Amino acid sequence: MAKRESMDELKKRLREVVRRLKRAYPDAKTALNHTNAFELLIATILSAQSTDERVNIVTADLFRKYRKPEDFLKVPASELERDIHSTGFFRNKTKSIQGTSKLLLEKFDGQVPHTMDELLELPGVARKTANVVLGNAFGIKAGVVVDTHVTRLSHRLDFSGEKTAEKIERDLIELVPRKDWVLFPHLMIFHGRKICKARSPLCAECVVEKQCPSSYLKTGVMPGS
Ligand code: SF4
Repeated sequence: MAKRESMDELKKRLREVVRRLKRAYPDAKTALNHTNAFELLIATILSAQSTDERVNIVTADLFRKYRKPEDFLKVPASELERDIHSTGFFRNKTKSIQGTSKLLLEKFDGQVPHTMDELLELPGVARKTANVVLGNAFGIKAGVVVDTHVTRLSHRLDFSGEKTAEKIERDLIELVPRKDWVLFPHLMIFHGRKICKARSPLCAECVVEKQCPSSYLKTGVMPGS
């Protein structure tokens, strides 16, 4: 039976994976178009169960019409629902956006707050959205974003065996150097989209194949099959 990797070995392997992915994806960053923290917050709410491409199409018009929290409250829900319809789950997202806008005005002077606890008070905002905003709008390293790509790659690379985003994030916080908390998910997402796809990952073309215990070149079994 293969010897279980020690924590030090695991951290060393992860550091090598990060080093290689940084070289492969020097421009890795959020794909959601935004010009300020409020726009990134709205775009991230819209991105649930949608694609970044779709959200960018919608926000290109949306952010011309709605520039600040007040603007989202001036229109009836039905109008906002129509404006964001194509991102899916438009009723819930409208509730979240209008609820968030209302609370931002009532409690935070219309500004996006800078702490995890305050962001989590906003309707429709969970840890993932809060981490995206803190890390990418403010450069605050409060945690590690865990989405579907980060989950899949963390499992394949054996950085976490946990099932829930919260527990996977806890594992990653322990393993990933704090300076890389914001960049790490972008690297995973870029690699997940291009090479380590959900179905039929391209292990033979993967820059971290040597560091990956799930590579089909080693196991003979296609991950995700
Ligand atoms: S070797 Fe295969 S499974 Fe492992 S990270 Fe690369 S593409 Fe994904």
